[in-house]
Amino acid sequence: MPISFISHGAAGTVTGSKHLIEVERDGRIFRVLLDCGMFQGEAVRDADRDPNRSFGFDATKIDVLVLSHAHIDHSGLVPRLVAQGFNGPIWATPATRDLCAIMLADSAHIQEYDHAYDLKRARKRGRTLEFDEPLYTKDDVAPALELFQTAGYEKATLIGPGITLNYTDAGHILGSAAVHLDIEDGDRIVRFSFTGDVGRYVDRLLPEPMPFRQADVLVCESTYGDRDHQPVKEAEDELLQHVLDVCVKGGGKLLIPAFSIGKTQEILYTLNSLSNEGRMPRIPVFVDSPLAISATEISRAHSTLFREAVRAELASDPDLFTFPGVEFVRAADRSKQLNGLKEPCIIISASGMMEAGRIRHHLRNELADPANAVLAVGFCAPGTLGAKLLDGATEVNIFGDVIPVRARILRMEFYSAHADRGELVRYLACQKPAHVKRLFLVHGVDHSLNGLRDLLTTKGFTNITIPERGQRFVL
Ligand SMILES: [Zn+2]
Repeated sequence: MPISFISHGAAGTVTGSKHLIEVERDGRIFRVLLDCGMFQGEAVRDADRDPNRSFGFDATKIDVLVLSHAHIDHSGLVPRLVAQGFNGPIWATPATRDLCAIMLADSAHIQEYDHAYDLKRARKRGRTLEFDEPLYTKDDVAPALELFQTAGYEKATLIGPGITLNYTDAGHILGSAAVHLDIEDGDRIVRFSFTGDVGRYVDRLLPEPMPFRQADVLVCESTYGDRDHQPVKEAEDELLQHVLDVCVKGGGKLLIPAFSIGKTQEILYTLNSLSNEGRMPRIPVFVDSPLAISATEISRAHSTLFREAVRAELASDPDLFTFPGVEFVRAADRSKQLNGLKEPCIIISASGMMEAGRIRHHLRNELADPANAVLAVGFCAPGTLGAKLLDGATEVNIFGDVIPVRARILRMEFYSAHADRGELVRYLACQKPAHVKRLFLVHGVDHSLNGLRDLLTTKGFTNITIPERGQRFVL
């Protein structure tokens, strides 16, 4: 009775995470889907072949969905899956469920808004759109949220006939997990592990990724599989230096495009520490993202998931994300007022890859001024506005306007939520390579996937495969 594994996303690319496991049960196929993420950036440039429109499988035939974490490239198509007929349980950690509730509502809003915008533009040009509906709407979110069931870290949970789920902390974002399934297959038990996105071994808000039990079959992410992050300087000092250079010395604005979940809280935590130490200059800091504000509230509510040393700080500072000068901007009117602001300030806004959200308005307004700077703090998928700026583009197109890039583009690696290649090897050190019968590398681009394969080969791992989208493997 073979078990099959098929990647329907994040195969040879960094977005759209979706991996399907098929097992035979009582004369039929039982299907477990791991993640249901959205493709982003370059992967959806060709509107006629938008991979988000077609799962590559029948949603009504999926029995159970297991999420690794709340990032949209891992959870963003859940409402569409449910709208297309999936009605099984959706397993997630409690924090992932809470984050999905706000992320998916926000994503539905973006889908509706973008679709209306595309429609209007097409009509103006006398054209029609290939698809007359958004990917999903706000109405699709509540039915999806009703299907969520939660499992904490290291709690064995039966999720299907002869299939047990165990989550371990992946240290990537709040609630993030590696997914471990024990799958009965006749006389044997196949121990299957999916890393999800792996976090880092640096001193931050969240704990390090946890080691996990020996796997027979391993699916590992590869985002930074061919490179190491810069050695971690004191993040506080590096961030402070940028603030002093841009805002105090240069009198400019420092724009920090950041994922609403994870990155924004990490940066606020650093700024809060600087403030507590009396090192933070008195300049306004705006957190201009309703989603980031909600995510910050959820982080406060799940403070038990913080690193131990961080939890200890709560005794003297009960709110690690708020300090004098910070303003949380929910209202769109207030966000627009920031455009007219002449004084130096810091604006933290989503999205991290600069593809959506309020940050695009700020970039349109501020990129032409050489006094300003953009501080990139995370991974930007190829083809995104963030990637173009990091590649040194001298002008970019935002909302149909061509904007010259005169602001400085800075980068800080500390806040990368993804392990680099050294950290991925460290993460997999809990495994005996000879016992891993099959290793799949996903969630990377060609050079990172190949780089990690070569590196893991030198560590003794064999039978390493880089799956293509839709390719079936019998385990
Ligand atoms: Zn992620």
